[in-house]
Amino acid sequence: AVKVGLAQMLKGGVIMDVVTAEEARIAEEAGAVAVMALERVPADIRRNGGVARMSDPQMIKDIKAAVTIPVMAKARIGHFVEAQILEAVGIDYIDESEVLTPADDVHHINKHAFKVPFVCGCRDLGEALRRIAEGAAMIRTKGEAGTGNVVEAVRHARAVQGAIRQLQTMDDDELYVYAKELRAPVELVRQTKALGRLPVVNFAAGGVATPADAALMMQLGMDGVFVGSGIFKSGDPAKRARAIVQAVTHYNDPAVLAEVSCDLGEPMVGIDVREKGFKSYAQRSE
Ligand code: PLP
Repeated sequence: AVKVGLAQMLKGGVIMDVVTAEEARIAEEAGAVAVMALERVPADIRRNGGVARMSDPQMIKDIKAAVTIPVMAKARIGHFVEAQILEAVGIDYIDESEVLTPADDVHHINKHAFKVPFVCGCRDLGEALRRIAEGAAMIRTKGEAGTGNVVEAVRHARAVQGAIRQLQTMDDDELYVYAKELRAPVELVRQTKALGRLPVVNFAAGGVATPADAALMMQLGMDGVFVGSGIFKSGDPAKRARAIVQAVTHYNDPAVLAEVSCDLGEPMVGIDVREKGFKSYAQRSE
């Protein structure tokens, strides 16, 4: 309960991927509520290929020293020792992330075994509730990281929100069957129905590149936004970072969105997920 409460403080905010202390300072100045410390943003992980692992703890320490906002870092799915190391370094949140190469293709980390809160990705309500059952304090859509293409984040956000709306119409008998279909604990399904939302904060991630993308995800019911490659792979990172923070705050105000969308310079070059040979991170297990 304490860990879940911590993540509530990030609500309505933007979390930005950074690879240097200097980028972390730019993100903090722009109003980011937290940063994700990485050696490579997802766009570069895609380009480089190979096995993507936890970052060097020294670079994570350097970024922690540079800012006052919370610092997150990624561990591979199922790699509980990477998570132990990140906890030992004093990281504020661990992202058990499909952007890194999975270390275990069956088991996720038992996140109850840690004091540090975890964020995990999901494509639908069942996946979100399975991660929460394992102890995740925060959820994000998987989307498709490093593409600059919001289509998969939209698909995943709509899948979660649509399923929660469906849940509202079900009686208790139907709820047991639905929990089985979702492969999620019935108690969490019941709690989600009662709340009319996920029991933890749910951020959008995986393809958000513009203020309009960020506001779109907020209007679809997300609690905040992760921006990975979209900021520091664009022409004017500081300006775009500020604009996306403004867009998340004023996501229902098209006049403000129009204003902050002006003169942002080049956005990151996107990847069409329907292109031949596209490699999905979200569907990596399949
Ligand atoms: N995402 C990735 C990258 C995986 O490797 C797995 C493991 O099978 C999953 C998601 C699915 O896990 P679950 O079916 O428990 O949601």
